Amino acid sequence: MSYLKQTDPEIYNAIVGEVNRESDKLELIASENFVSEAVLEAAGGVMTNKYAEGYPGKRYYGGCEFVDIAENLARERARQLFGCEHVNVQPHSGSQANMAVYFTVLEPGDKVMGLDLSHGGHLTHGHPINFSGKLFKFFSYQVEKDTEVIDYDKLVAQAKEIKPKMIVAGASAYPRFLDFKRFRDACDACGAFLMVDIAHIAGLVATGLHPSPIPYADFVTTTTHKTLRGPRGGMVMCQEKYAADLDRTVMPGIQGGPLMHIIAAKAVALKEALSDDFIAYQKRIVENAAVLAQELKSRGYHIVSGGTDTHLMLVSFIEIGLTGKKVEKALDSAGITVNKNTVPFDPQKPFVTSGIRIGTPAITTRGMGLSEMKIIAGFIDRVIKNLDNEELLKGIAGEVKSLCEKFPLYSQRKD
Ligand SMILES: *Cc1c(COP(=O)(O)O)cnc(C)c1O
Repeated sequence: MSYLKQTDPEIYNAIVGEVNRESDKLELIASENFVSEAVLEAAGGVMTNKYAEGYPGKRYYGGCEFVDIAENLARERARQLFGCEHVNVQPHSGSQANMAVYFTVLEPGDKVMGLDLSHGGHLTHGHPINFSGKLFKFFSYQVEKDTEVIDYDKLVAQAKEIKPKMIVAGASAYPRFLDFKRFRDACDACGAFLMVDIAHIAGLVATGLHPSPIPYADFVTTTTHKTLRGPRGGMVMCQEKYAADLDRTVMPGIQGGPLMHIIAAKAVALKEALSDDFIAYQKRIVENAAVLAQELKSRGYHIVSGGTDTHLMLVSFIEIGLTGKKVEKALDSAGITVNKNTVPFDPQKPFVTSGIRIGTPAITTRGMGLSEMKIIAGFIDRVIKNLDNEELLKGIAGEVKSLCEKFPLYSQRKD
């Protein structure tokens, strides 16, 4: 980064600070990951210079022969990885991917069902201040109070009653497998489209560790930067019959020029995701999450739904009267990064919450395994038992740093 160091030392120093933060702390935010050097190289490359409105072979600009190679490879690899008929790799983010699907088949005012936000759903699944909640009439379904999972018989009954035009399956904070066949049943009971948003679980789906929605869904949306471990961005997969309408909605419907450097980086990540190493990586994510959840549970913590099938877990502090806000802050002082998260039937406001969300994708990328999960559970427990003991939290931050040093990350970038 010698050019940047010379021309813009402020940004250079901020980036070095970020590299060091990523290296020295335990990244347990379930939606984050560390991309490979190859992905960084593509994302930071000259394709950022190119305007390429349109699609490979049908662009509104000349000089697209090389960016076409990148986009075609991204599309082919995504189709191969997920077994879908059609894919659009241009959405700038997961939110844009969802917007593209809504605008492809819905009209403003249409009824849609999505998972309640405080039960694990995403902003774009109908939050009143999000475009989704403003433009469409969202009805939420929830998890059960006793089991903290979705009751599919109730979902089907609710779909029959509401008769939505679309049901959105998928979540940002739901630790259990989603049963896509039952979602399809709910859609078939009322003639609705099924959109499945696999933003979080894409890596697990790609490797067969979470059942795939492709056989059941009309549309599948995802981000590329969570478990899939690619650059920040989105993607939509669909059946061939929707392909032309979807592509028109993405461009010119909701976006202009695609981010070709990011599409190139998506192609690189998708190639990585097709490797045996990636399958082994995803298995380790899930094993690590299961052990971490078990370790916390054995220390008396309430793990929502009793455990996890995926890369993430939710810890609820409703019974012990702590807030997610306070726990997040104390963990941060100890060098452990998580996010506060609402838990089902949370009495606290979304900015306070009664829980935290913990995920293992990023620390697993660093190479951490089962014995580290036990150590980390111990750190978390000590922090929660000593929330106001600044001295002790600082001590744990030192232990965290030593642990992280055994699993180096981007070390050559620390210059
Ligand atoms: C992260 C996420 C998104 C949105 O992704 P952005 O790239 O942040 O817009 C959409 N849906 C779900 C379920 C998510 O978890």
